[in-house]
Amino acid sequence: MGVSSLLSRFNPLSTDTTIDTDMNVVIIGAGFSGLGMAIRLKEAGLDDFTLLERADDVGGTWRDNHYPGAACDVASHLYSFSFEQNPNWSRAFGRQPEIFDYIRRCTEKYDLRRYIRFNTAVVSATFDEHSGIWTVTTADGDTLTANFVISAVGALADPAYPRIAGLDGFRGKLMHTAQWDDDYDLAGKRVAVIGSGASAIQVVPEIAGQAAQLTVFQRTPSWIMPKPDRPIPDSEQEKYSESPLKLRARRLRIYWLNELFAPFIISDVGLFKKQAEAIARRHIRKQVADPAMRRRVTPDYQIGCKRILISNDWYPALQQDNVELIGDGPERITEHGIVTRDGREIEVDAIVCATGFRVPSTASPFEVTGRSGVDLNRVWADGAEAYKGVTVSGFPNLFFLMGPNTGPSHTSVLAFTEQQMDYALQAIAHVARRGLKFVDVKQRVQDRFNRGIQWRMKHTSWTSGCNSWYLTDSGKNTTLYPGFNWEYRLRLWRFAPGDYEEVGRDASAGRGHSARAA
Ligand code: NAP
Repeated sequence: MGVSSLLSRFNPLSTDTTIDTDMNVVIIGAGFSGLGMAIRLKEAGLDDFTLLERADDVGGTWRDNHYPGAACDVASHLYSFSFEQNPNWSRAFGRQPEIFDYIRRCTEKYDLRRYIRFNTAVVSATFDEHSGIWTVTTADGDTLTANFVISAVGALADPAYPRIAGLDGFRGKLMHTAQWDDDYDLAGKRVAVIGSGASAIQVVPEIAGQAAQLTVFQRTPSWIMPKPDRPIPDSEQEKYSESPLKLRARRLRIYWLNELFAPFIISDVGLFKKQAEAIARRHIRKQVADPAMRRRVTPDYQIGCKRILISNDWYPALQQDNVELIGDGPERITEHGIVTRDGREIEVDAIVCATGFRVPSTASPFEVTGRSGVDLNRVWADGAEAYKGVTVSGFPNLFFLMGPNTGPSHTSVLAFTEQQMDYALQAIAHVARRGLKFVDVKQRVQDRFNRGIQWRMKHTSWTSGCNSWYLTDSGKNTTLYPGFNWEYRLRLWRFAPGDYEEVGRDASAGRGHSARAA
């Protein structure tokens, strides 16, 4: 047994689950979490699963977001599977091409392509209580049946274009950061970028070096911290290749440092906020000399309320001679340009919308019908809720990865999803071992969990009064987890059957059939 497998055997954060069953699984989405789930199922011995992917390749967000400058703001050694660590990250913070490569490498290594049906969008999933079988319908009218469905569709998958009068009539090039056209050359063009969030602060410095003229529409400034990025020299990469222990130690160090900083990001306690704000203000003072510009890029809301960003080149880019920062959103868009709120028309050749995503905080990602014909959209109309972010009462044997209130604010999303995969695996193993038809989380258990989550929300920065994609229209946070990751992991540590209604397999119980992709 190698050092690595010995370590993972004694890793208190992993559980050993083997599944012996004739039941099958449909996974929806072949991004990080769907692929991770597939790997875990395979390793557990459950080979009868199908991944449905609406696009033509794996990778999810890292396939779609290939705009110039796209990178991850979580350190590379943590932003990867714990069971598939990569000693060869070339930078402290991975860029899109390298992360996308990593995902594709994992796909090949675990031979996952043969389980995936590409170009297959799911439109609905319907549960039949009598047989305990889900029927999954795809956009081309095909149906698959499954004993278990795992939704791994991601929270930030569908680009949101801004609602600005005239946008449809613009005759130049219109792009969203998540739908970048690599063939469109920005060199020498007049370009406008709408937005100043996580995507904008990455794309703007890249475009600023190419465009003849760049106008940035910043409706709300972001709090920005220095980015401790650096290239990782070959010698250091070799060290990690030679010693899995050192690689694991680096990952653990990053993990616990992030946990240490969590209160500064999440909590609304003044002491934490003051310290975090002081660092961000110092960053502005260091990089921006002009007092008027400093005022325009300094937020007036509590730090952490919106996502805290990291960048060393956003402020310098805004001060380049060919760049203008407009301190508001556009008033309207004409055929050839953008009209500012003070009535000035700026002619542009291209508009880049760095305007984020349609977040499914009050809607299910596809039509989901559970027990007694209950529609998940109706259940979630006032804000999505699940038990531990994974299961929803009335929707048996359905597991969400990156479900409600499991978004990370301070660490890697994979630190959350890996625990969810493990939890789903334990649940499936339990159903198989006990010869059950399905498990369905008890409503009162789910409600108690969510009361706790929403009580804790009151003491976070996210509800301190700014407008963000974290909140529903009524101001409820259904997206982020209001606590430490270690604590979330402990909550999902063991699947507790007592939290679930268990329904046995009777004579009429069926077995799902999924047609394996060729
Ligand atoms: P975002 O954070 O939602 O930012 C959207 C930006 O567009 C905001 O500045 C928003 O202004 C602006 N906007 C929207 N509609 C507008 C309008 N009509 N007029 C003017 N401005 C408008 O979206 P994002 O930057 O794509 O990031 C979304 C999430 O993706 C992030 O929070 C993060 O979780 C993830 N992400 C992560 C990374 C990474 O490094 N890991 C990189 C990119 C994205 P307001 O603030 O005023 O609403």
